[in-house]
Amino acid sequence: MTERLYYCDSYLRQFEATVMQVQPNPQGCEVLLDATAFYPESGGQPYDLGTIATAQVQEVVERGDDIVHRLDRPIAAGRLPCEIDWTRRFDHMQQHTGQHLLSQAFVRVAKRNTVGFHMGADYVTIDLDAEGLSPQQLNEAERLANAIVYENRPIDMRIVPQLEVPALGLRKESQREGPLRVVTIEDFDVSACGGTHVRRTGEIGSIVIRKVERVNRQARIEFVCGWRSLVSGQSDRQLLTQVARQFSVGLSEVPARVEKQVQEARQLRKALQAKSKALAGFLAKELFVQAPVLQGSRIVKQIFQDEELEFLKSLAHGLLSQGDCVALLGSTGAQAALLFAQSDRLAGDLRLILPECCLLIEGKGGGTRTTVQAGGKNSAQVQQALELAEQKVTGGFSENPS
Ligand SMILES: [Zn+2]
Repeated sequence: MTERLYYCDSYLRQFEATVMQVQPNPQGCEVLLDATAFYPESGGQPYDLGTIATAQVQEVVERGDDIVHRLDRPIAAGRLPCEIDWTRRFDHMQQHTGQHLLSQAFVRVAKRNTVGFHMGADYVTIDLDAEGLSPQQLNEAERLANAIVYENRPIDMRIVPQLEVPALGLRKESQREGPLRVVTIEDFDVSACGGTHVRRTGEIGSIVIRKVERVNRQARIEFVCGWRSLVSGQSDRQLLTQVARQFSVGLSEVPARVEKQVQEARQLRKALQAKSKALAGFLAKELFVQAPVLQGSRIVKQIFQDEELEFLKSLAHGLLSQGDCVALLGSTGAQAALLFAQSDRLAGDLRLILPECCLLIEGKGGGTRTTVQAGGKNSAQVQQALELAEQKVTGGFSENPS
């Protein structure tokens, strides 16, 4: 059984310990010490890193009552100096203690209990036992948690005999048997917890909610504390400044400016579509009269650059509305597009000529006997696809069945 030094002192960063067991492995070795300040992964809090003698600690895990240190190289037995990566550990202490505060704040503001906790490398999440929180509730809970931070209340840790536990008023009942390690934030929160915490709430720093989402009928609150809240604020400022610079406005004007831009883009698109349709109508008249006639039917073959399929459809519609016609239309650009259409009165099945054309443009498509369309990635072959289609049409099925 390893003595857990962090239970009594979360601020212990350097210590000496005696090696009880060394198990070599391909990465280095696994070590048991008589006592350790290294926190093992548990209860939602990640493990500590640091050094034992000259070896780097890569992972710390619980195995029953023992704590196993996984090292990057073998070490000799004896009494060894150990040191915890304090930047990482203090960050975990800020996040973890902040979680106690925020969880209690949600109990007080919204009567929501915390049922899950996870500390990631960039942010922390708690899951609350019901979905849906109003923006006011979020703001209020965030405000209350930060108010307790600014009051710099003491945080006390003690081991409580099982008999005394019911009288404590724990935020969440513990399933553990025997004495409990209890963490108390003065006049605010009492929790059973084996993690590492700061001594006073002021050390937590700002507690900032970043996101809320619904997960499995629960509300997942993403938040950051301490140094992480500074980093997230700096990152937000940089991103927002980039956008504001694009629009040449102040930060506070960005939302209105983006909204205006979106509206304008929508209107422009609408106007462009109307003009495009009108243009297709004019073009259809011109192409129809210029097109060669084969057995009473016009054959229109035309290639465009960077036109959308909608434009090709409007054009085909305009062509067919003027008389018997086969329209073989294509567009080159980032994508290859084909649209073939023919008057209902004409015999033949456009679907039969599509597969070979699709092979040329390296794409796929489909449709009906009288209208087919296809998209592909080889724009350079659109012209050839149209020529192939023309050969097939003139060679066979454009005859009037009557
Ligand atoms: Zn805790």
